[in-house]
Amino acid sequence: MTDLPPFPVTTVGSWPRPRSVLEAQRELRHGRVTIAQFERVADTAVRDVLRLQEEAGCDLVTDGELRRDNFYSFVARKLTGVKLMTLAEMLDVVEDKAGFERLLQTLDVPAYAISNPTCVGRLDRREPLALDDFLFVRAHTGRPIKVTLPGPYLLTRAMFVAGVTPEVYATKEDLAEDVVRLLREEVLALAAAGADFVQLDEPVLSELAFAPASTRTFMCAALAARRDPAEELELAVSLINRVVDGVDGTRTGVHVCRGNWSRDESTLLRGAYHPLAPYFERLEVAQLVLEYATERAGDLIAFRDKELGLGVVNPRTDRVETSAEIRRTIEDAMKLYPADKLFLNPDCGFGTFSMRPVNSDGVALAKLRAMADAARSLR
Ligand SMILES: [Zn+2]
Repeated sequence: MTDLPPFPVTTVGSWPRPRSVLEAQRELRHGRVTIAQFERVADTAVRDVLRLQEEAGCDLVTDGELRRDNFYSFVARKLTGVKLMTLAEMLDVVEDKAGFERLLQTLDVPAYAISNPTCVGRLDRREPLALDDFLFVRAHTGRPIKVTLPGPYLLTRAMFVAGVTPEVYATKEDLAEDVVRLLREEVLALAAAGADFVQLDEPVLSELAFAPASTRTFMCAALAARRDPAEELELAVSLINRVVDGVDGTRTGVHVCRGNWSRDESTLLRGAYHPLAPYFERLEVAQLVLEYATERAGDLIAFRDKELGLGVVNPRTDRVETSAEIRRTIEDAMKLYPADKLFLNPDCGFGTFSMRPVNSDGVALAKLRAMADAARSLR
């Protein structure tokens, strides 16, 4: 692992896709360009986003997830046995169609922008999930690199769709076995190739903690019914720990947020981390990458023996937080965390869903610069 300066500045992963990539993604979906043609367009865009992060003062860069249509459904292209289903197609397999449709409208879910990776066959690796993308970034930057992957609980919840998946995997737990195996192989390969940081995205954990059992919320693709939240959280902890077990030489982290699909904060989940704390503390990862810039996340909590990826800017607002404000947030966090355990990041990605980013690249860049300014002033 490369040495990082104090208060390393990084992102949670995604960046608004430039027009060229959006067009190439559309052409790829329609089969009008080959994957190789698409990748050439994406290569240029990834090089650009690396330069932007370097110039803004990012200490740990990502590829902006530019090659992905969103942070988890891209696995459909990488794995066998996964079929992308639009939410409209999902409507055909959910029981309460009217309720589901109402839910999408109420929660401001971009139904047209999202496809769910549904498990319809045995899972296996067609190509690496992120290793090739990492190697490209490695060849085009000297900065330490963070790689993001959907977490095993999120992937299992998203991919297991009743009415389709049980013909292949009888239960969610059966499917989880193959998800864990594939993610673990990927993380080990990334560690061996020298990735500095591997972040597993598990936003669905907040759905377990903060969505009342009686209501369905939209949390990415957690459309599958869930059991008792405590049981589900136990399952999530065990799956994550099995993925990272024995991984050496790369920093591991888990990102959890309360939703990043809408700029209407009232549709997103709300609640402090207390109900999740006992589970977070048992995760065998170095870092928790958490949102704190939104007041929906409540007060800062000290998690034992963990680094904190501190959310210091809201990715969904036009207003750019000042470096003085960010500095105050960091100083508050230093009352609970030693300085060398604090990383700085936005609350979530700036472009989670390629067709509906939550911000423009201009504002995202200004927010990154403010974060880097605040870090410099404290170093
Ligand atoms: Zn997030």
